[in-house]
Amino acid sequence: MSEQQYRELVQKQRDYFSTGATRSVQFRLDTLKKLKAAVIVYQAKGVEALQNDLAKSEFETYLGEWGVVLTEINTHIKRLKKWTRQKRVKTPMFLKPSYSRIIYEPYGVSLILAPWNYPFQLAILPLIGAISAGNTAIIKPSELAPHTAKLLVELISETFDEAYVAIVEGGVAETTALLKQRFDFIFFTGSTHVGRIIARAAAEHLTPVVLELGGKSPAILDRNIPMKVAVRRLAMAKLSNCGQVCVAPDYVVVAKDSKAEFIEVFKAAVREFFPTGNLDDVTTYQTMTRIINQKNFKRLQSLIEGENIIWGGKAFEAELKFQPALIDSGDVADYLNKKRQKAAILEEEIFGPFLPVLTYENIDDVIKYVNAGEKPLALYFYCNHKTNIDKVLNNISFGGGCINDSMMHLANDHLPFGGVGQSGQGAYHGKTSFLTFSHAKSMLYSTTRFDLAVKYMPYTAKKLDFLKKIFK
Ligand code: NAD
Repeated sequence: MSEQQYRELVQKQRDYFSTGATRSVQFRLDTLKKLKAAVIVYQAKGVEALQNDLAKSEFETYLGEWGVVLTEINTHIKRLKKWTRQKRVKTPMFLKPSYSRIIYEPYGVSLILAPWNYPFQLAILPLIGAISAGNTAIIKPSELAPHTAKLLVELISETFDEAYVAIVEGGVAETTALLKQRFDFIFFTGSTHVGRIIARAAAEHLTPVVLELGGKSPAILDRNIPMKVAVRRLAMAKLSNCGQVCVAPDYVVVAKDSKAEFIEVFKAAVREFFPTGNLDDVTTYQTMTRIINQKNFKRLQSLIEGENIIWGGKAFEAELKFQPALIDSGDVADYLNKKRQKAAILEEEIFGPFLPVLTYENIDDVIKYVNAGEKPLALYFYCNHKTNIDKVLNNISFGGGCINDSMMHLANDHLPFGGVGQSGQGAYHGKTSFLTFSHAKSMLYSTTRFDLAVKYMPYTAKKLDFLKKIFK
């Protein structure tokens, strides 16, 4: 589409929004139900599309794409009436008998930009928030998952009038032209690098923007934790979607004296996940998602080149798959003391099935190591000691995370999901999605029955004395 066509589409949505049609709560509920029905109809096609784009298994497609979306729609349908109610808030004595309310109003025309790793979930989940809050929406799916993009085009254009919810396809050039338009809200999910480009474009029109980005999320294992259960949870999170998850544990930090045990238990966990076949053979990894494309495959290959590979890492180029790998990345103290330079695998988001293993003597060093980098999107601490848990949580800033688990905080829609610093800004999921796509309009309702003389000019000494008595 040309810039002119984008302009016309945005204008069409703006005109539709001005009719007020999207504001009625019943209309939003009906739309959510319509969306739910369409999502269900497209489930079987979705399995095929995700298989074509990423060789994603039916299990992972159902759980991470359709399951997540249906759960979110159900939550919104169930609770929307309550969320949309005006919220009563207290009013200070000196303003009485006025009363105060917060009114949640839609922003208007929203833009949703999605990445390729959960190409269905991450296009539809923000849309649910946009609809719930009463906005119109234009979705731009990732060009790197073309089969899912095509499915989304069909689903959206069959279900909605483009004046309300539209979908446009394209890569960098198209998105750049799209971003020149004035939107009332932008919701972006993707890399930190592109997030900066989006924030710049949004600033041009002072458009509020949510950035759901990535980063390096650590998993930390305290001493004396039950190793088997911790490692199974960690390994499962690392290998879901072949590590191509924004909140996947990027690297692990274990106590020096537990390193050998960790490695053995990790290998055993992978063996249990793929119980049949040779772990050196690509056919064993049939249910594992593949790497999205050749470019990322090569990037991952070069990340482990020259690294101290403890186990795994065999490349299957024709299938765009890797055997999972553990990398020996040394002790955190070596980096803190500048005895060792960080390799690329410790600098950039891995987004693949490789897990650098770092060791520590003292948990304080782990805190210093994590804090020397950018604020992570997630952090996972396997620990049963309150003092250590408090220490880690009070001294490291990150988006969100789990104690004794990995990634499962996303499964609770009562928890806002989002990053901090370079891992993002703003949050969504459940009620937070509704709030994120709404402007909270603050209203003081006053009365004309009383009129305090003290607030008017002239500012006499008596009035000042009165003020001083109130504000102390
Ligand atoms: P990306 O930033 O390359 O692309 C995201 C979107 O931006 C796509 O729609 C793409 O077409 C568009 N885009 C790309 N380059 C652009 C440019 N120069 N100008 C304008 N638009 C552009 O991200 P990706 O590779 O699709 O996804 C992987 C990244 O996304 C990882 O960093 C991952 O951590 C992050 N991610 C974050 C979350 C989250 O919820 N926080 C979820 C999934 C992925």
